[in-house]
Amino acid sequence: MTSLPRPFFEAEHVTFRDQVRRFCENEIAPKHAQWEQAHGVPLDVWKKAGENGLLCCWVSEEDGGPGADLLCDVIVAEELCRLGATGPGFNLHSLVVAPYIVHFGTPTIKQKVLPHMVSGDWVGSIAMTEPGAGSDLASIRTRATRDGDDWVINGQKTFITNGQNAHVIVVAAQTDDVHGNTGISMFVVTADMPGFSRGRNLHKIGQHAQDTAELFFANVRIPADHLLGEVNKGFRYMMQELPQERLCISINCQARAEAAFEWTQTYVKERKAFKQRIADFQNTRFKLASLWADLQAGRALCDSMIQRHLKGELDSVGASAGKLWHSELLDRVTDECLQLHGGYGYMQEYPIARAFVDARIERIYAGTSEIMKEIIARAICDEPRK
Ligand SMILES: Cc1cc2nc3c(=O)[nH]c(=O)nc-3n(C[C@H](O)[C@H](O)[C@H](O)COP(=O)(O)OP(=O)(O)OC[C@H]3O[C@@H](n4cnc5c(N)ncnc54)[C@H](O)[C@@H]3O)c2cc1C
Repeated sequence: MTSLPRPFFEAEHVTFRDQVRRFCENEIAPKHAQWEQAHGVPLDVWKKAGENGLLCCWVSEEDGGPGADLLCDVIVAEELCRLGATGPGFNLHSLVVAPYIVHFGTPTIKQKVLPHMVSGDWVGSIAMTEPGAGSDLASIRTRATRDGDDWVINGQKTFITNGQNAHVIVVAAQTDDVHGNTGISMFVVTADMPGFSRGRNLHKIGQHAQDTAELFFANVRIPADHLLGEVNKGFRYMMQELPQERLCISINCQARAEAAFEWTQTYVKERKAFKQRIADFQNTRFKLASLWADLQAGRALCDSMIQRHLKGELDSVGASAGKLWHSELLDRVTDECLQLHGGYGYMQEYPIARAFVDARIERIYAGTSEIMKEIIARAICDEPRK
């Protein structure tokens, strides 16, 4: 069965994909179940990933990166998803956290942080959400106050991916209480700063190898050059960076849905009931045919989004529509595929069982499906027609 062609990947990308696949099969797949028990990925895996050029591939040599391109980071994401490996938060580190530093960091902060993120010595996190504010980011209460040449940060964040491992955290804080989202600024905090601490590694229903934490900031004093960009422009920066974060969700969901489909295709050809293969029941055949058609549509949409993004043409509405659609696709595919596994689909040792629970969060983080619909609906109903 032929897959849709992906001509935007060049020969070097194909070679790189082989390297990444080998790395994931040797260094990640055999250990992932153990990391799920431990609720986290050990730091030496990050270092190995860095040594093998898997982190921040798109960051230029001038900024301390390998100077490859974004497609290499896409390949890393897809190869992890192919194995159902949700533990290593490389994607968030490389494609969500690093861009804030590259695009808005001072030369000093770039020099201080980026080479360590590329080498895997430092793990990155982004901390926007708080116990009282997730979708409604304008209501965050973490506050940064100017004190001489420094900023002093006080507040609390929750649900932070890579939170237990993080050495560098991009933090959203209020710098002007009165003006809501126009009073938010972004800062770089490093985990060695006095007053920074971590709370619990949060217990989730899925993605067990991923560390997700509460973070606390008690009079964390940071130098002025740890402010990203200009004061009070943080919300604008988030709006600028969120399309890439949402594209990452589409990329991950599509790749994980394809993996779930392949595991199921194998399973139904091996398992028998009523003296025939599960694959011989018309229900199975039609279900798989429909899912395959959905996956083709999803692949076409995902690749078109990647290409538009590479040209700087993927806007917030396009990325939101993709995130909405692909996260729902993943839920649909993992649910139908689990059903075709019967009882074994409910057993933890089967990858489809883990993929099913791991999928549920995709409709929630990086903006819930409802917020995606709000963004899209605003463009449809409120903006003048172009
Ligand atoms: C595993 C995990 C990892 C995460 N990683 C990170 C991270 O690394 N960094 C980070 O900053 N955050 C992270 N988050 C937080 C995540 O982005 C938020 O949970 C998400 O944005 C939703 O916010 P909330 O949980 O406060 O829900 P709420 O905003 O309280 O929403 C509750 C419900 O109300 C709905 N709702 C809210 N507003 C509207 C509206 N205007 N119209 C219609 N419905 C609405 C929502 O869609 C949802 O269904 C993570 C969360 C999880 C669970």
